[in-house]
Amino acid sequence: MARYTGPQCRLCRRETEKLFLKGDRCYTEKCSVERRQYPPGQHGQRRSKLSDYGIQLREKQKVRNSYGLLEGQFKKYFEEAARRKGVTGEVLLQLLETRLDNIVYRMGFAPNRQAARQLVGHRHFMVNGRLVSIPSFAIKAGDIVEVRVSSRELDAIKDSLSRVEQRGIPSWLEVDAQNFKGKVVQIPSREEIPVTAQEQLIVELYSK
Ligand code: SF4
Repeated sequence: MARYTGPQCRLCRRETEKLFLKGDRCYTEKCSVERRQYPPGQHGQRRSKLSDYGIQLREKQKVRNSYGLLEGQFKKYFEEAARRKGVTGEVLLQLLETRLDNIVYRMGFAPNRQAARQLVGHRHFMVNGRLVSIPSFAIKAGDIVEVRVSSRELDAIKDSLSRVEQRGIPSWLEVDAQNFKGKVVQIPSREEIPVTAQEQLIVELYSK
């Protein structure tokens, strides 16, 4: 599947906000946003006033890049959210949060979403006892996600689990690290999704 392959920290610096795209480094003083709190590039330190469109665009880019999606993939999630009942912005974030690669990351089986996507694609995870290798697979409340028995010795997974306390596990997930499995207790409400964006601005952007 196509994905962004450029420098991750540049995406955070563009938003002058941590998007936690790397893992351990994001929690240290080596984080690029902590060291340089201005956008990247030759004109990064110039002050410029954003238009309404610019503000909406930045919110959308922030969320899209947080989940590591390309524009076409992200737009499809928005269209799906707009079709469903509920507040479109909140539904959009719920759809993104319940992607299998995000759940693997949130449960602590991977240090970031990019690594989670790769681990899922390489067939290391099962959902409700069945092998699933599609990173965008939609997880439902009550689903059990677990590492395949043959993959439990992978350093990438064990290292990530040993450091998960640093970022914490959301309350809507239950994780049994010893048995390499977790349960999605419920679909998260907006308050339970640790993304700082104003999702209403994304709805306004796409509704033009
Ligand atoms: Fe973003 Fe992490 Fe890089 Fe900091 S270290 S800029 S949070 S990806």
